[in-house]
Amino acid sequence: MNKLEKREYHSCSNGIFFEMKRTLVKKRSCFQEIEVIENPHFGRMLFLDGLVQTTEKDEFFYHEMLIHPAMVTHPDPRKILIIGGGDGGAIKQALRYPSEVVRMVEIDPDVIAVAKKYLPWLLPSLEDERADIVIADGREFLEDSHDKYDVVFMDSSEPVGPSVTLHERNFYKLIKERLAPQGIACAQMGAPFFQTESLKRAKNDLKDVFGIVRFYLAPVPTYPGGNWCYVYLSDQVDPFATKREPPSDLKYYNPEIHKAAFALPNYLQKILK
Ligand code: SAM
Repeated sequence: MNKLEKREYHSCSNGIFFEMKRTLVKKRSCFQEIEVIENPHFGRMLFLDGLVQTTEKDEFFYHEMLIHPAMVTHPDPRKILIIGGGDGGAIKQALRYPSEVVRMVEIDPDVIAVAKKYLPWLLPSLEDERADIVIADGREFLEDSHDKYDVVFMDSSEPVGPSVTLHERNFYKLIKERLAPQGIACAQMGAPFFQTESLKRAKNDLKDVFGIVRFYLAPVPTYPGGNWCYVYLSDQVDPFATKREPPSDLKYYNPEIHKAAFALPNYLQKILK
């Protein structure tokens, strides 16, 4: 019997496919198509508008590398903001530190509801008493509220649909205005091998806003090219001036990986340095 497959295109001529053992949910919210399938190798997989967001088996790569480089480096990370992150993976890692508040601003309540129901390994974080879940557009939230944060994480989806406004130059200016002194921001910046042009544009935009702009890489098996790019942003805190050890039970991130992640291959150095 032919196996049901879900395909994600990374360019018009290549991509990745996943056997769909079963579909747990497929619905359209006010913002996007939300789907959770079960794959024999990766377990439960969340897709938004047909693009892999997180999977049971490999989510740790992406979320550990988004959160821990900044959380071990900021002098005293008390107030944390996550824009996006509705699946709960980012807030799960941020709550590993004794911060006072971890605020998550997610535009689509249906993503949170689906994550709570179908991605049970993330549930505790979404219900942690320090987790402050706000349903709003990340940009509008930052425009309307004037709270300051020690660390801001951008865990938005690809720059399509509701996420477009989160990948623009003046959004990063807004983030900078909402950072407390010695603040750090980290953002996911997409697939380095497939999105070199958008990375080049982002680098120019970011260097106009932040004094320290350092891109770093991590493997994410289910993302385009199996390789993912992030950026570390600050005006005062050097990314290598780490202040504390990370949790000891992480599956990917450690102090050696922290240093190695900022080493860029030649093709990226040409466009990002
Ligand atoms: N880790 C995934 C990745 O790198 O592709 C993204 C994680 S999470 C699923 C992305 C979240 O960003 C989604 O839940 C989406 O609803 C949310 N999002 C998109 N645009 C947003 C916006 N303007 N404000 C707040 N959240 C937004």
